[in-house]
Amino acid sequence: MAGKIQAPAIGIDLGTTYSCVAVWRHDRAEIIPNDQGNRTTPSYVAFGETERLIGGPAKNLVALNPTNTVFDAKRLIGRRFSDPLVQGDMELWPFKVIAGPDDKPMIVVNYKGQEKKFVAEEISSMVLTKMKETAEAFLGLTVKNAVITVPAYFNDSQRQATKDAGTISGLNVLRIIVEPTAAAIAYGLDKKLSFSNENKNVLIFDLGGGTFDVSLLTVVNSAFKVKAIAGDTHLGGEDFDNRIVSHCVQEFKRRHKKDIKMDPRALRRLRTSCERAKKNLSSATETTIGIDCLYDGIDFDYKITRAKFEELNMDLFYKCIKHVKECLDDADMDKTSIHDVVLVGGSTRIPKVQQMLQDFFNGKELCKSIHPDEAIASGAAIQAAILTGQGNTEVQDILLCEVTPLSLGVQIEGDFMSVVIPRNTAIPTHKENKFVTCSDNQRSVSIQVFEGERARTTDNNLLGKFGLTGIPPAPRGVSKITICFDIDANGILNVSAEDLTTGNKNNMTIINNKGRLSTEEIERLLQEAEFFKAEDEQHRRKAEAKNALENYVYHVKSKIENDMNFSFKLTYSEKKKVELAIELATDWLESNQLAEENDLKDKMKEVESICDPILANIYVFQ
Ligand code: ADP
Ligand code: MG
Repeated sequence: MAGKIQAPAIGIDLGTTYSCVAVWRHDRAEIIPNDQGNRTTPSYVAFGETERLIGGPAKNLVALNPTNTVFDAKRLIGRRFSDPLVQGDMELWPFKVIAGPDDKPMIVVNYKGQEKKFVAEEISSMVLTKMKETAEAFLGLTVKNAVITVPAYFNDSQRQATKDAGTISGLNVLRIIVEPTAAAIAYGLDKKLSFSNENKNVLIFDLGGGTFDVSLLTVVNSAFKVKAIAGDTHLGGEDFDNRIVSHCVQEFKRRHKKDIKMDPRALRRLRTSCERAKKNLSSATETTIGIDCLYDGIDFDYKITRAKFEELNMDLFYKCIKHVKECLDDADMDKTSIHDVVLVGGSTRIPKVQQMLQDFFNGKELCKSIHPDEAIASGAAIQAAILTGQGNTEVQDILLCEVTPLSLGVQIEGDFMSVVIPRNTAIPTHKENKFVTCSDNQRSVSIQVFEGERARTTDNNLLGKFGLTGIPPAPRGVSKITICFDIDANGILNVSAEDLTTGNKNNMTIINNKGRLSTEEIERLLQEAEFFKAEDEQHRRKAEAKNALENYVYHVKSKIENDMNFSFKLTYSEKKKVELAIELATDWLESNQLAEENDLKDKMKEVESICDPILANIYVFQ
């Protein structure tokens, strides 16, 4: 039987600021560079007057189109608009976010002159599409299956929403795994660990672009368990950039008595240069920030040393170490009991951060043999290989075990949280609890599902609720109801209930499925994604046609004007004819900036039909 060549499953690290994709090939996880040759891709989508840009091109042009360039979708995904974290983040974003149906946040942009609204899943799906296409271009095959990573603290709804984003991008999401586990997998193989029965404690230090996560994992019998997590959702590379920016703003003020803060565009240009300088300072001890015409026509040139950079950020670096302590305390572990400290996230390339962490662990060697911004994607690719039965036996031996980050339960009486699945339970899991009715002749119960560690449900997070009706009249405590919590391997929760007294399996549906996308919505968004893709393609072809015409016109014009040898061979009338055709085409291009692909191609044919026969003769004579 002739089988079709199937592309291997890929691993995607869908980051807040940068994303990375890897694939298992030649017995190892390989990072896939994008079309610009970069191994990580900004998680940015820009909606322009004429086109949509994803990744590097979107981030590079952010200064020109700030209100329609969307980033940080990971901070929105699976959350509600009224979530205080969302409200806080919104103040920092240049793009607009409004409340949609069911309190779902909607990002509002202007695309091709029209207002468009997107849910976070759609924006993330665009980034995922870019990663998928990057892999397809590299492998020369259509990619279908993927493992996507999420932070350890992501709750059920955030994981589900991430999975939905994958579906919208046309991927089949094999599994959602947490980032620290992915990083641990990447290292587990790298160092060829033979996992014994003895516990191994691993601390993952993930300092990325916008967030800082510390996780403590234990490895028992080849299974990873998350023991404790700590961190700060607003601490990372962007904060370090901002410190340099503020410093430069002051320096500019000191030198020129002018405040750049008044000019958002100048600030953004400065920020881009500062990020570049920061990256340089991870390898060089000194670098220059140089920007032409930064503000009021004044150039800005500033030399910054690594020492200055460290001084500007020292308190933030200390904060990181403080969170490491917290994480250890939370797990009730001493730092000496940590076997491995793993560096993850682009910002751990900063030498000072590495040094401070190493000092904290009494000079212990840190795991940094894998590029920190690539470790998670590598681990995801290894996991993808395991799930699809690729990879060698070594890969196949790793068994994965993840845990619920928060306790899950229901509210039955008053606002008391009755825990069904305790925090840190290994998943997948299935748990049942029996409950009885609380009042006489109670005909229905409302089952409210919460997550959190507090005793009162009002202090926890409501995930959803549904009702069970049709209970036959009976004194309180007689009717029994079984509530089932089911968490699948992706960490996605399903809750069902059954009335045991009647044996009736009432049809249970979670009616308040707030924040989740329905199957129909996903279907619609999938189609929309296809539509956008087609539009992008159309735009690309249009740009190509325009380019071709411009090139042709330019080429002929310069031949006639500059190559005397060539133009001498034309008769007067031939030359006039060609010149006129070129002039008309140039005018046409200028007054038809937005011309469609077909018009451009027609125009091309028209000029060619005039010029080519004449020019062909010359070429023959030459
Ligand atoms: P995310 O936080 O989105 O997962 P990454 O882990 O890739 O993303 O981290 C991105 C951050 O790492 C950015 O702030 C970037 O400026 C920073 N970074 C990348 N390379 C370096 C470097 N060589 N030195 C310092 N910071 C770096
Ligand atoms: Mg990351």
